[in-house]
Formats: sequence, C-alpha cells, structure tokens
Amino acid sequence: MPDNQVLISEVGPRDGLQNCSAIMDTETKKRWITALAASGIREIEVGSFVSRKLLPQMADTATIVAHARTIPGLEVAVLVPNLKGAQMAVEAGAHKITLPLSVSETHSIRNIRRTHDEVIEEAERISALIASLPQDQRPHFEGSLSTAFGCTLEGPIPEAVILTCAERLMQAGCDEVGLSDTTGYGDPASIRRLIRSVRAVVGVENLTGVHLHNTRGLGLANALAAYEEGISTFDCSQGGLGGCPTAPGASGNIVTEDLVFMFESMGVSTGIDLPSLLEARQILAEGMPDETLYGFVPDAGLPLGFKQARATVPAE
Ligand code: ZN
Repeated sequence: MPDNQVLISEVGPRDGLQNCSAIMDTETKKRWITALAASGIREIEVGSFVSRKLLPQMADTATIVAHARTIPGLEVAVLVPNLKGAQMAVEAGAHKITLPLSVSETHSIRNIRRTHDEVIEEAERISALIASLPQDQRPHFEGSLSTAFGCTLEGPIPEAVILTCAERLMQAGCDEVGLSDTTGYGDPASIRRLIRSVRAVVGVENLTGVHLHNTRGLGLANALAAYEEGISTFDCSQGGLGGCPTAPGASGNIVTEDLVFMFESMGVSTGIDLPSLLEARQILAEGMPDETLYGFVPDAGLPLGFKQARATVPAE
C-alpha cells in the first residue's frame, strides 16, 4: 500500500458488541454494517464464531456474514477461537479469519482454555482446512498476537515468548500475524520496538496490521507510531464501542471517527467519507441506547474548511 493510504478495519460489530451487555438485534447490525461500508470502510470484522452460551451477542454471526457478503467490495472478517469456528466461518463465506493467540499463556488458558501448543495445533488444523478448499474460496488467515504489550494477569510478557509465538503461527500456516494491544498497555515506544522485533522474525510483509485499544488514552499516539513504522492496517471501532470494565471512562478500541480524522488531516487517505461515517454512528447510537459512545470528532464536528485526503494512487 502506498505511503499516503491506510486500510481501516472496523471491528465494532465484533470487538465492540461482544463487550456490551446489551445485544444488538440482527436487523440493526445489518443496517449499521451497510452504513459503515457505504461510508467507504472496506474491511469489517462482523462477528465471531464462538459458543452462543459464552457470547450470545455473536449468535447471529453466520447471518451477518451472509449479509455483509452482499455488499460489493467489502472484505468480511471474523474472529474464531478454534477449528470449529473456522469451519463455520468457511461455510458462511468469510473472506478473512483471525485466530487470536494470547502471548500470555495464563490469559490464553483463561480466555479460550488452551495452552500455546494447543492454539498452534488449532492454527495448523485451520490452515489444513483452508488448503483443502479451491484456491478462489480460501479465506485470508491471520494469527493475532493478543496481549502483546502486557497482560492484566501476567503483566509484561518477555519479548522472546512473543517472537516464538509469531514464528510458530507463521510455521503453522498463517498468511500473516497481527499485533494486538488487548489491554491498552502499549505506548508509542513499545509499539515501535515490538513491530521491529516481530518483523525481524516473520518478515516485513507478514506484519501489516495492529489492533490497538485506547484504554489509557494512548490509542492515537500508538496508531501514529505504528503508521510511521510502516503499518498499513488499523483496527478500530466506531464510538470506541465496548468500553473496558477495568478502566472506567476509557473507550475500548481506538475510535474509528477520530482515527480516520487523524489520517485524513495528515493527508493520508482512508477512502472513508467522514460525514457518512458520522451518519453510521447514528444507527449505532439508536441500536445501543445504553452504551456510551466515545470520540472527539463526533462531539466537536469537522473543522471549517476541512478537506479529506486524496490518495495519489486510486483505489481499485
Ligand atoms: Zn480488542
């Protein structure tokens, strides 16, 4: 991707909604995703294939994937914890599958009840499943290194452990790895450092995306640091949806509206029309009336004379 373009990957329908106690109804989810895509968002993580009992918010993911697939040009991403989830994702027709591997083994066991070895085995099985499909039906497979900047149970995770996890995910057949600051512990310096170290192990082309949370207010600073390191895909959620139970008053993921504003102001094209993005926020606000929505740009409005960036190379 050229220097003056980034890919914004909206994860609100997954990361955001799964952290809310209220459940957004299926029709509202569809309308919200349609509106997000209409604003120019080209990749949306629309849900996860997990146990309905554990996460009833995600019970309609197959229906949502089917809907999202009807939107032309939209990359439909889902999160899966295991092979079973990946099978459901493939059946539903997701374009991208993300398997999280928590570099904190304690968190991994607590979160998906699997050790590192077990997650790597799951990754191998998922790659085999993908390899068995006709070439044009194979989803992109990302291994996401979660809690990479620290864990609420273990604290900082030794870099050697993170690098081993990254290497093993690639060996297991992932197309790329991503770095996730699940806990909002990262800062611009640690973001730069870990991107460089992981890229030294897996290759520059195999780490292109970061998933950052704004738990301690460093989300945009961290995103900028990652951008300056050459990262081109940024996860974020509309309204910073989801919150964080351990950090009252903090948003969950980086607020999409503010992130898009930052890049567009800098002359870096996201392909997203900000006024339309703010319209999509209305659907979210109406669908989740009890949820606090974050974001400075939605509150302050766009500056007088604001112009969106234009990519020098037109998007296909
Ligand atoms: Zn997250």
